[in-house]
Amino acid sequence: MTETSTSSPSPAAAFALRWLRRLVVLGLLAASAWWAWPRLPDPWRAPFHAARLAMQPVPTSLPVPVAGVAANRIADTWGAARANGRSHQGVDIFARRGTAVIASTEGVVTRTGTNNLGGLVVWVMGPGRQMHYYAHLDGHAPDIGPGSHVMPGDTLGYVGDTGNARGTPPHLHYGIYQSGGAINPHPLLRAGMGTAAKAGP
Ligand SMILES: [Zn+2]
Repeated sequence: MTETSTSSPSPAAAFALRWLRRLVVLGLLAASAWWAWPRLPDPWRAPFHAARLAMQPVPTSLPVPVAGVAANRIADTWGAARANGRSHQGVDIFARRGTAVIASTEGVVTRTGTNNLGGLVVWVMGPGRQMHYYAHLDGHAPDIGPGSHVMPGDTLGYVGDTGNARGTPPHLHYGIYQSGGAINPHPLLRAGMGTAAKAGP
């Protein structure tokens, strides 16, 4: 005896069933991706954030990356002479030791560590592939490391005097680097102050 003639579906029904099955599988994949994305560790998501940020325009104004410091209290020391024939490639933002150093942009942390001049530093890749350099830190925030996704205002670390700033008044050295080299952050911070004032009541 044979039942194939009654149980096998028509070609049209088989076709529809096959596509329905594919849609269900795709739906399940989409649902699991939707569920998993916010639960993935930051470093796994970092390449996606980095790709999105790389395509964004560079910012035309920035908030001051030290909590509680107004932009008009920061001196423009860009290009000032430094030891060994170097010139100053950033701005120094003075504040009490331990004051929060905060991200000036959305970004992905690319490196935390130490170097001779900067001491304890954090590097963040921001919009338009600009690299933001936060140096002389007393320490970095416990949840900050390579691959961390940060938003403007997130704490990266704390003002200190590490590196070649040892023994000087605690300050953040803040630098911005792009493909052509370093740029002066000072005008961007001043522009940021203007926009903040306009946005206020
Ligand atoms: Zn400096």
